[in-house]
Amino acid sequence: MTKAVFPGSFDPPTNGHLNIIKRAAELFDEVDVVIAVNSDKKYLFSKEERLSMLSEIVKAFKNVKVHSWNGLIVEYAEKSGSKVLLRGIRNASDFSYEFDLSLLNHKLNNSIETLFIPTEQKYLLMKSSSIKELAKYHGDISGMVPPCVEKKLKEKFFYHDS
Ligand code: ADP
Repeated sequence: MTKAVFPGSFDPPTNGHLNIIKRAAELFDEVDVVIAVNSDKKYLFSKEERLSMLSEIVKAFKNVKVHSWNGLIVEYAEKSGSKVLLRGIRNASDFSYEFDLSLLNHKLNNSIETLFIPTEQKYLLMKSSSIKELAKYHGDISGMVPPCVEKKLKEKFFYHDS
């Protein structure tokens, strides 16, 4: 049985993340989506909010589960019996960052491999930070995030139509 771990901040989850999850669910027997909880980082959504949004989004996939973790991701992978870390790549700057991170993780535990899944063109510009910025100014975020995330963003930023 092959299990993959897809770690990230998911602050908030986007349709780009969902696309990677969907494709991973077809490639692996099991996928653990792992929400990173870093006490030094400031998130818009709490761990509980991100867990609740992601659980709603992945409920259609029987082989995908959502967890949170506040330590090294290679330790999570080891503990859960997975040898694969998945990361999505949108462009060369993602690659450059992700490549360095993959070397670091491999140095920490060389039995765990990072695999990259390139985004699809329509998700190229979907980035949690840009979507939060758009939502802050009440821009149109439909089509960029799943409906439950759109609702939560509109509540956070007091859209008048929510
Ligand atoms: P992190 O803070 O760990 O980068 P993110 O939630 O921003 O967490 O991203 C988690 C993973 O999802 C990363 O590998 C990121 O490159 C990937 N990702 C984010 N947005 C997209 C997208 N639109 N298409 C493909 N991969 C994406």
